[in-house]
Amino acid sequence: MNELVIISGKGGTGKTSILASFAALAGNAVLADGDVDAADLHLLLAPTVQRREEFRCGHEAVIRQDDCIGCGACLARCRFEAVRMGKGGVGEGRFAIDPTACEGCGVCVKACPVQAIDFPEKVSGEWYVSDTRFGPLVHARLNPGGENSGKLVSQVRTAARELAAEHGTDTVLVDGPPGVGCPVIAAISGAAQVLVVTEPTLSGLHDLQRVLALTRHFNLCAAVCVNKWDLNPELAERIESVARAATAVVAGRVRYDLVVTQAQVAGRTVVEMGSSAAGDDIRNVWSALLPARDASLTSTGGNHG
Ligand code: SF4
Ligand code: SF4
Repeated sequence: MNELVIISGKGGTGKTSILASFAALAGNAVLADGDVDAADLHLLLAPTVQRREEFRCGHEAVIRQDDCIGCGACLARCRFEAVRMGKGGVGEGRFAIDPTACEGCGVCVKACPVQAIDFPEKVSGEWYVSDTRFGPLVHARLNPGGENSGKLVSQVRTAARELAAEHGTDTVLVDGPPGVGCPVIAAISGAAQVLVVTEPTLSGLHDLQRVLALTRHFNLCAAVCVNKWDLNPELAERIESVARAATAVVAGRVRYDLVVTQAQVAGRTVVEMGSSAAGDDIRNVWSALLPARDASLTSTGGNHG
């Protein structure tokens, strides 16, 4: 599977704008928004939802009021202070569980002497398969306070790969989450290529080093693109040196260009805005990535799980 995942050390580096332009340039890719905590690819791609699935993860305890005998064992055992005892009104003396505080450990379920506590799977969000003008998009929404976004990212990637097989394409473009945590690991593991988008700032340099340590750890083919490089050419140079030293491919630079904001406002990708400096740069980065990704696929037999 020819899967390219775009990530960054932090949010706001422009990775989604670049990914959306790649979607336009690829023409036949399946797209995936793996940034489930702050999904925004849909803002540029205007998807029409075709399929909607619940994302279930973990469990939550729920007391059946009719069966509860009010012994208080659940209140005494819960280490997360999720069990509440009503005071005043119709809830006086009744026990209930705060779903936002329940960690789903199941201790109260075992402790209840009359089995009055249900323990259903928790719905933590939804994921969707949608149509866009550039092809199918798999995206997701995590409920507020919803946990395990890494598992949801894996779900989104799996669905995108299955969709690619159905559509007879092997190109999957994934907008990954920022940072170096669990969701990022879920987004990049087994990818054919990872593009790290960074900005020419000291924090960008620092973030890049952490991200490249991660891609090295997972033995991934990494490439680096400095977005808005002309805001600080010296740092852009330094970032590229660090990237080369870490054996990453320097895939190119994208100039600061107001057309990026204009494209966002218009709900379009940069390369759909006609000729522009940023659009030309993004096209060059896309071209530079193809040989590296193909080489990666050849060297591994194209089987990345
Ligand atoms: S499942 Fe665990 S966290 Fe939730 S209410 Fe019961 S004891 Fe507390
Ligand atoms: S342990 Fe069971 S019976 Fe006792 S208060 Fe909790 S839910 Fe009610």
